[in-house]
Amino acid sequence: MSSTSSEYVQKITKRSEDFAAWYNDVVLGAQLADYSPVRGMMVYRPYGYAIWENIQKLLDARFKATGVVNAYFPLLIPESLLRKEAEHVEGFNPQVAWVTHGGNEELEERLAVRPTSEAIIMQMYSKWVQSYRDLPILINQWNSVVRWELHTRLFLRTAEFLWQEGHTLHASAEEATERTLLMLEVYRSFLEEDLAIPVIPGRKTPSERFPGAAETYTVEALMGDGRALQSATSHDFADHFAKAFDITFLDKDGERKYGYTTSWGLSTRTIGGIIMVHGDDSGLIIPPKVAPIQVVVVPIWRSEEDKQKVLEHIDRIKEVLGDSFRLHIDLSEEKTPGWKFNEWELKGVPVRLEVGPRDVANSAVVLVRRDNRDKSQVPLNDLVVRLQQTLADIQQSLFDRAKQFRDEHTFECESVAQMLEVLDNKRGFIYAGWCGSDECEAAVKEETRATIRVVPLAQPEDPGTCIRCGNKAQVKVYFARAY
Ligand SMILES: [Zn+2]
Repeated sequence: MSSTSSEYVQKITKRSEDFAAWYNDVVLGAQLADYSPVRGMMVYRPYGYAIWENIQKLLDARFKATGVVNAYFPLLIPESLLRKEAEHVEGFNPQVAWVTHGGNEELEERLAVRPTSEAIIMQMYSKWVQSYRDLPILINQWNSVVRWELHTRLFLRTAEFLWQEGHTLHASAEEATERTLLMLEVYRSFLEEDLAIPVIPGRKTPSERFPGAAETYTVEALMGDGRALQSATSHDFADHFAKAFDITFLDKDGERKYGYTTSWGLSTRTIGGIIMVHGDDSGLIIPPKVAPIQVVVVPIWRSEEDKQKVLEHIDRIKEVLGDSFRLHIDLSEEKTPGWKFNEWELKGVPVRLEVGPRDVANSAVVLVRRDNRDKSQVPLNDLVVRLQQTLADIQQSLFDRAKQFRDEHTFECESVAQMLEVLDNKRGFIYAGWCGSDECEAAVKEETRATIRVVPLAQPEDPGTCIRCGNKAQVKVYFARAY
């Protein structure tokens, strides 16, 4: 049976024609998310939420392997607490939603709906910590935050989003820095190994730091349209918050000292990253490790007699596969097999198994890969091993493909004019020298709409000259237009 039912796919704008329209079509068409009656806030539909649940499982295990535990803090933060760290409140103030009434009573003090939880968590840490024996504190919470955004895009920028925020407290500046970098590495390995998204780990420039941070680290990825996505951040606060919230402890030497804090977060934005890094004209391609459905079985029959045989064969397949994979068997009868092929391709299921009368006769199935559409017949006896191999291979291929795309869309430039030419025509990362001045950074942003995304941890011996002023560069950086 040929897949003549292309109606489903026709609803998807071609990726190469209009990336932004394609992105929206995929999010809505694959039923990952939908707009809600609240402006700027979206609904995570079951299929999209299932990806988030898989992200949570894998990332949470990586956190816990470094000693982190989970807790939960209140949604609302008294205004006075938010005001304790000056830069922090200034940075978030324009985006804060306020609760002013409880029932019909006007509150004496406004309550902020958390835009992030440093303030309330630091307040608790100041209460919990007395001595060096209480340290370190390594707490994470899975929650949502609200930032009043006017220009929103599904998953990428919404007024409420899901994330995790980890907050740690340490006895020394060195230990806090070490933790900041450790969590950056957790994010790097998670994004690359589990989401198949290659990233560049490094620092943000001072102007791009998180409000209140002494240093902000980031992992930056390149999307399929050549724009960058900040995929997770890790902040070293030094003693800024400890001083603002009076977090002190009695050290081994009998002296009372300020603690050192960090915070780090990854949000449902990364689902937008998965879509934009791996997707194609037919829709999503979800890396097997986080795919809600790893293997979908589509039966094919023409006669009632075939139908019985095919269904019996599918029972055998179910038995053989057991619970080794996240499996879905699509038995719905109102859709043709061709329609189903398109639908599961749109939803990005890594592997499709087609089961027709000929496969019953051969005691086999036809295995089709979503990433490259390779088709092969696999004997039932080999199916478990072949699926394990294929899913691992898809996971790796997606990473390799994304890395190759990034490498091909990374350009070394020596002047702003050259950079503009690349940004307008080829798109991607611009790798160039920077003298370290705020002026040059701001001027490039003004002239090109590209920002310094990351100052990579790995630096060449000679960074060359600054792309803007031509003076000796301090570092090589990646510029890009970004989400
Ligand atoms: Zn310069």
